Amino acid sequence: MIQDFKNAANLFYGESLGDLMYGFLQELCEKAFNNKVNAEVPIVMTTAQSAYNRFSGWYNSESHTIELVNHLCKSSKGGLVAKDNKEILLTLAHEFCHLYQFKALGGTNSKRGPHRCKNWYESITLASPFVCGVDISGLCKPLKSVRENGKIRKVSNEKSLTESELTHWPRSIIELLRQGDERFKDRAVEGLCELLI
Ligand SMILES: [Zn+2]
Repeated sequence: MIQDFKNAANLFYGESLGDLMYGFLQELCEKAFNNKVNAEVPIVMTTAQSAYNRFSGWYNSESHTIELVNHLCKSSKGGLVAKDNKEILLTLAHEFCHLYQFKALGGTNSKRGPHRCKNWYESITLASPFVCGVDISGLCKPLKSVRENGKIRKVSNEKSLTESELTHWPRSIIELLRQGDERFKDRAVEGLCELLI
């Protein structure tokens, strides 16, 4: 069955992009998500403009599809191809964390969006060793409660990753690692995907 998805993607997007994308997702499901979700999800590349320009992908929890938007793709020989395979894989990793969040952990309808809730943090914590080569467990508590004049107030927790950094996983983490951010000290783990080295 997964081979059908790979074949279809190779047909649509050319060369061996389907093998690359679905091979990566199969490995992600196995190594990060213990096969509680599987890679058989239609991936749609589109040149349509995203509602949010900065977003490069979208997981649709109703249709169970992943859409990759304009700046990851370009038209070529009458079809759509990836501009940069590594960028595609990073976007797929992010969207698959949403898939796990919705399929395995019940999803969310939080008013603060899907990136500011515990099951997002749980999903990216599972995927971080494979996608970023780092263990982020314990770093997903961006706010802490403090008592001030008898009242409890939420303030940012400087030991954690911030809400913005957690939202923009995995690119934010990869950039912080490159900068030598000390929150990741002694947190390197084995298991980083070879395609992302
Ligand atoms: Zn997202």
